[in-house]
Order: sequence, then C-alpha cells, then structure tokens
Amino acid sequence: MSHQTRRDFLKTGALSTLLLGSGIAIAGGCDAISRRGKTKNIIFLVSDGMSAGTLQMADTMLRRRDGRPSNWVRLLEDSTLKRGLMDMASADRIVTDSAAAAASWGCGYRVNNGALNITPDEVHRKPILPLFKESGKTTGLVTTTEMTHATPAGFAANVESRGMGETIAEQYLEREIDVLMGGGNNHYDPEMREDGRDLYEEHREAGYFVAKTKGELLAGDPTEGKVLGIFTNGHLPYTLDHLNTDNLLENVPTLAEMTDLAIQNLSGNPNGFIMQVEGGRVDHAAHSNDVGGLIYDQIAFDDAIGVAMDFAQGRDDTLVIITTDHGNANPGYNSSADEYFDSIQNHRHTANWIRAGLDENSSISEIQERIQYATGYEIPEEQAELYQQSARGTYRAAYGRMNSTSAVLGQILANHCHVNWVGGSHTGDYVELASFGPGSEAIEGFVINTQLFDVMTEAAGVTDYVDNDQTVAHL
Ligand SMILES: [Zn+2]
Repeated sequence: MSHQTRRDFLKTGALSTLLLGSGIAIAGGCDAISRRGKTKNIIFLVSDGMSAGTLQMADTMLRRRDGRPSNWVRLLEDSTLKRGLMDMASADRIVTDSAAAAASWGCGYRVNNGALNITPDEVHRKPILPLFKESGKTTGLVTTTEMTHATPAGFAANVESRGMGETIAEQYLEREIDVLMGGGNNHYDPEMREDGRDLYEEHREAGYFVAKTKGELLAGDPTEGKVLGIFTNGHLPYTLDHLNTDNLLENVPTLAEMTDLAIQNLSGNPNGFIMQVEGGRVDHAAHSNDVGGLIYDQIAFDDAIGVAMDFAQGRDDTLVIITTDHGNANPGYNSSADEYFDSIQNHRHTANWIRAGLDENSSISEIQERIQYATGYEIPEEQAELYQQSARGTYRAAYGRMNSTSAVLGQILANHCHVNWVGGSHTGDYVELASFGPGSEAIEGFVINTQLFDVMTEAAGVTDYVDNDQTVAHL
C-alpha cells in the first residue's frame, strides 16, 4: 500500500474503494465511517498461533467438561460477533510470523517477517499504542509470553528484528505504555540485561508501580497509575502446568486476572483506552505438538475474552476484536470414540513438561513413567523406544520436520487422545476474525490484516495523529 493510498483513505474514509497491494478491493466500511470517532475504547485479543481445530477443541472440552460453550463460540451463537476470515500474509512471505502479523495491525503496513513496524523501504511507522497515547488515551499490553515478545511489541515498538528484547523494553518505557503485564524478567533485570541497565528502577523513577509476583501486584493498587508487572524470567508457564504447580499458582497471575486489572486501570481514563491481550503460549504449544498445552492455554485465553465481555457488553463505546495471527501445526481431533478426546481432561502436565524431564540418556521405563504421570497414558515399550530414538537423533519420519522429540511425543500421545498435527510451524490458513462494538461493522467477510489498523484508528477518531510520512525517532 503506498503512502498516497493510505493518506487518501484516511482523508476520505473511502474504505470501500481502497485498493490493496495485492490488487484486492475491500468492500464495506460505510457503517464504520458513519460511526467515526464514536469508539472510546478498544480491546484487541489475540490467541497466538490458533488454528481452527484449536478453537473447536477448547470449545468442545468446555462443553463436555463444564457443560458450557467457550465465550468465543457463545458470542457467535448469540450473533453478537461479526465474523470474518483474514489474510495474514506478510510483505515477504505467504506464512507470516508473529512480528509481521502484529505489525500489520499495529501500523497498517505489511512488513517482512521478523520486523516490527519498519517497512521494507526502511521507514519506521508509528505504532498504534503511541498513536492512541498522543490522542489522550491510555494504553496497555498484557501477555503470557515475555513482555517484549513479537505480538505485544507489534503494537508499540519499532525494531528491525523481533529478537531485540532489551530495546523493545526501553521503547515501552519511553513511549509510556501505561500497563505492562507478562513474563520476561530477562529484559528488565540488570543482572540479565547485556547493558546492565536496571529497567525496573527506571520504571519506578518514571512513576510506574512495579510488581514481580502476583502477591506484590495485589498488595499495591494495580488499578491506578502506570503499572509494570513481570512475573517470570522468560514466558509465563503453560496453563496446565500453572494449574498443577503450587508455587506458580501463588506467584503468577492468570491471563484473565491480568486482563481484569488492566481494564480496571486503563478505563479510569475519561478519554478511553486501547489494550492488546495475548494468549501467547497457544502458539508455543502448537509448535511443540503439545495437546495439553494447547487446549488449556486456549481456554485461559477464552477466560480473558470473558473478562473483556464483562466490561464491554452493555456499553456502546468499546470495540472488541478477537482473532489470531496465524495457524500453527493445524491440530485436529481425528474420528474416534469420544472418550479419547475426554482423556485430555485427566492430563496433569504438558508435553513440554514431559520433555523437560527427559533427555538422550533416559531409559525406556523413565520415559513410560513420566508420560504416565503427566497424562495417565500407559505407553507401550515400542512407543517409548521411538521417543528414545528421537532424543538420540536417530529417529526418521517420512516428513523430516517430524523427527523432533516434540513431534514424536505428540504422535505418541495421539495414539491415546487422537489429536494429531500437520507439522510444527505456522501455517498460511486464513484466520478467524471476530469483533463486536462500534467499528466492528467494517470487518466482516474477507479481510486483509492491514485493514484492522484503519478500522481501529477510524473508529476511535485518532486519524489526525496518523502521519505515515513521519518516521519515529530511532532509539
Ligand atoms: Zn510461533
């Protein structure tokens, strides 16, 4: 998309005639234009790496276990949600990564995989959180990954490479993101940062309330003022492991708890707010063919949707967008008796937890015992041998990407739960896009990722602050 095209669009609101780089014209948008500026708040929820089967399996587990649908599907059942399919391609790939995906929403341009809000022409595009901040709104990022991971960073940072976590943390501070909650102590702690800077102290000096455990968070008042909550060194734990590990339960808040506190905090601003909520470990579970990690983290994400619904339903000033940035490993429940699927309810730990306690020296019985402890499944010797071979690097699948311990364990577990995978990487699926509230009318049908930026800035009436000819300061 050229500058001229976007500037014309922003001036006229002519979404119906907007031509994209791909040559695809987007229909619709008149309703959004008539409501321009009416949207006070935006809550953007993203389950990272959620394939269609992930949404279905979480919903099916909730129906069979708890006798209720997922919040996401319930909103579809009662026709609250507008629904679309979204093309998430990046500037250089059919299959995006999380950085290019979040940046497409965060600045309205497709960037190359790995980049954050720097387009292939090397222009730094102002991301949506600093943009909304300039217009007087409060801003927040809540995630189950490291705070500086690609998806939250896509709404607030400009870096050439998503791996620049230390720089991303500095940019959040300079750009005064009001609420930051997630993992990633490694990019804040002076003992762990390469430059030795104490980002915690710098945040305190800038007026932030800083918490490193759930207890510290709740002992303060996280619903007022600027908040930095960093609860683990790397990513937050997988939900299934979180639920079954006492010290994690005590010290790490859930995604829904963080979302609730962030909304209470940000909504105190009379000018409104924008926040992104990421269920980031759904992606990691899919990469590692981890059925328990996947389904329980998707349910935790769905709980956060419930928190957003509690705030936004019954109001007419809040746009809620619920989506994912790409498919991943496309898991599916293969036809078999229902009790195979129900057996996942008995899992105590993730497949990642199983692998973390095994290595190339693990014996067949050690492999069998650890899998049984975590899942309840009794694994025959010949399957434990396949795992041992993969740990020793001698296992060969016909599709070479399935040689890893994660793929082999995923398939061993599939013999007992019949959830299997197409690989261990992101997929090019058109993704589920759902929304409700003012502005949602413009994002039904088939949607191009960059369109969400336009819808959000139009709906909230902050387009005066968009100037894509202006590069942001290099840090
Ligand atoms: Zn990923």
